[in-house]
Amino acid sequence: MHIVACVKQTPKSDNVKIDPATGCLIRSGAESAMNPFDEYALEEAVLLKEQLGGTVSVITMGPPQAEAVLRDSIARGADRVYQLGDRAFAGSDTWSTSYALSKGIEKINSILPVDLIICGKQTNDSDTGHIGPQISAWLGWPNAAFVKKVIAADDKTITVERLTEDGGEVLQLPYPCVLSVVKDINSPRVRSVKGRLAAKRAEITVWTADDVAADKEKLGITHCPTRVVKSFVPKREVTASVVAGANAKERGAKLVALLKENNYI
Ligand SMILES: Cc1cc2nc3c(=O)[nH]c(=O)nc-3n(C[C@H](O)[C@H](O)[C@H](O)COP(=O)(O)OP(=O)(O)OC[C@H]3O[C@@H](n4cnc5c(N)ncnc54)[C@H](O)[C@@H]3O)c2cc1C
Repeated sequence: MHIVACVKQTPKSDNVKIDPATGCLIRSGAESAMNPFDEYALEEAVLLKEQLGGTVSVITMGPPQAEAVLRDSIARGADRVYQLGDRAFAGSDTWSTSYALSKGIEKINSILPVDLIICGKQTNDSDTGHIGPQISAWLGWPNAAFVKKVIAADDKTITVERLTEDGGEVLQLPYPCVLSVVKDINSPRVRSVKGRLAAKRAEITVWTADDVAADKEKLGITHCPTRVVKSFVPKREVTASVVAGANAKERGAKLVALLKENNYI
């Protein structure tokens, strides 16, 4: 089995501020780490490798400092790591990002055929949940999103349980395929001392857009189809009023009248 986990470096806190002038996230000064959902994606890849044998590769698209999440991936059990690092990728929306990642995965596939791609459900900065399903669309591989459990896996198919709005469903997918996983799926392991040492020595392969034969007309802020017109933090306005009355019955009746008046009931 060759499993590719997609991992993104994101700010450590959910409380990332938006620059009111530019509408962009203020990333400078914010401490970064592996996107929390991606710890579960990588852990599932390593668990499957331990069960079925094989190789775990990790890919990230990001600036030079994103190398840190690749070293962290080695410490957590990955065998090979790849970084898409090129100014041509900067400012990409989800369509461009998933395109670039799919080109990177095609290149990994040409080195060692890929059976399975595992993404996190979403990131804690842009938070769209688009990337896993979009990678599957670019590659034409089947996809299961919101996977909470791997029920069975062998060298031909993988059977998973996924969350849906009204419960869940069980899907069996042939390889190659793409999964996006939720946090219920496992408990990420603690990094081993051996893993930490290997992480320090690891060679990071960095690819440009040309290296992965990506069409530059599909990359970067000038070519992506999404335009962010405005980003802002909504103002929270909390008001409260106390319903007065001689006793609980009177206060209750007034409260019901108030709720009806405002069309809440
Ligand atoms: C017009 C526009 C401009 C943008 N400009 C910038 C910019 O200049 N700089 C910037 O940082 N962001 C920018 N973004 C945000 C950027 O597009 C998203 O961060 C990116 O597409 C990933 O989407 P997401 O974070 O919502 O991932 P989700 O779809 O929520 O992530 C799901 C999973 O996909 C995988 N994944 C996601 N991103 C990556 C990645 N980069 N590498 C590997 N795996 C990944 C992970 O497994 C993750 O758990 C821009 C967005 C738009 C719309």
